[in-house]
Amino acid sequence: MQITEIYKSIQGESTHAGLPCVFVRLTGCNLRCSWCDSEYTFTGGHRMALDEVLEEVERLSPDGGLVEITGGEPMLQEREVVPLMQRLLDAGYTVLLETSGERPLTRVPHGVIKIVDVKCPNSGEPDSFHMENLEALGLQDEVKFVLSDRTDYEFAREFVVLHTLDQLSARKRRVREIVHIVSWILGNWRNGC
Ligand code: SF4
Repeated sequence: MQITEIYKSIQGESTHAGLPCVFVRLTGCNLRCSWCDSEYTFTGGHRMALDEVLEEVERLSPDGGLVEITGGEPMLQEREVVPLMQRLLDAGYTVLLETSGERPLTRVPHGVIKIVDVKCPNSGEPDSFHMENLEALGLQDEVKFVLSDRTDYEFAREFVVLHTLDQLSARKRRVREIVHIVSWILGNWRNGC
């Protein structure tokens, strides 16, 4: 698979923030979000066999722990990244998959914690979310909205109400949303809505 970098750091996002984590960052993305901070992953990288990736993860974190598969968009390399995630699970790692939400997620191995973007209107990639992915979400998964302004906030709020909560709570699922700008939420709260 095409890899940009593998390194160990502190997880900065999701409910796993603050924990040591090995990041496996795959090369390539088919989206171009206006606020992307990973443009260096769009091209380049180097080929690594599955066993080489596993060896590097084990070297960086020999006692197990957290591994995040990210990019770029890792699911563009589904054929190789799905077996990689399964091998990491089998080896006892806690595996996070950070994905744009644009690729189908039905083949992601059970046990992988999916952190799924829904791109907001001002992302530059509105309507890219693969709606069937709602069905692939489980109790452990997380949905992420990156907000740049009030329009994005209202979109995220409506999406959660119209799609996530309505559809998923009916199936007794629970989805945690991570909202990066909270002032508007607090404003709604103060106004009683
Ligand atoms: S999906 Fe992620 S990597 Fe791709 S352009 Fe958007 S933010 Fe950047």
